[in-house]
Amino acid sequence: MDVNISDVFETRRGKKCVAINSYKFSEFRENKDTTKIFRCTNRKCTVTAKLTANLKTVISINGEHSHNELVEENITKQTVMSLLKRKVTTDLNMKPNKLIRQELRNCPKSDHLSHSDVRLFRKSMYEARRKIFPKIPKSLLEAKAMMFQNKKDFVSNNEPFCFMDSESSIPIFTNTTNMSLLNS
Ligand SMILES: [Zn+2]
Repeated sequence: MDVNISDVFETRRGKKCVAINSYKFSEFRENKDTTKIFRCTNRKCTVTAKLTANLKTVISINGEHSHNELVEENITKQTVMSLLKRKVTTDLNMKPNKLIRQELRNCPKSDHLSHSDVRLFRKSMYEARRKIFPKIPKSLLEAKAMMFQNKKDFVSNNEPFCFMDSESSIPIFTNTTNMSLLNS
C-alpha cells in the first residue's frame, strides 16, 4: 500500500503506537499469522490498520477517519518522549539533560519542540528513573529492615559482608577473610 509509517513509538503504558499518514494508531491485537491490527487512537473512530509483524509495512487500512489527522508537532513530541524515557531507564549513568541534548541534535524535526516540551521531557525522565530505583528509607527502622531484607546483596571479595540476625539487630559489616586476619 502507498502509505507511510512515519514513526513507531510507545505510549506511557508501554503500548506500541504508529503514525500512519499523520494519524496515530495503537496496537489492538495480533493475528495468528503474526500480522498486527492497530486501531486509530481516536475513540470515536473505527479505522483499523493491518501491519506486518515488524511494523514496517502497512498491509491494509480499513475504514475512513471521522476526524482530522493529528498535528505533526504532537507526533514528534510523543516519539521523542518515548525514546528519551527508554534511554533514561537503560542508560542509568547518563544525565537526563545530556540525553535530551543528544536527542534534540539527532531529531530532524526538533523545531517542532518548545521549551515547555523539554521541561516536560525532563520531568518524565526523572520520574521514570525514580521508579526503577529502590525507595529511600525514611527512618532508622526502615533502613535496618531494608538492609536485613537485602543483606545477600552486600558482598565483599565474593564473601557475604553484612551480618544481621533480625531486622532489629545491629548490622555488622565484615567478611570471613577480615575475621581470620584479626584472629591470626
Ligand atoms: Zn481515526
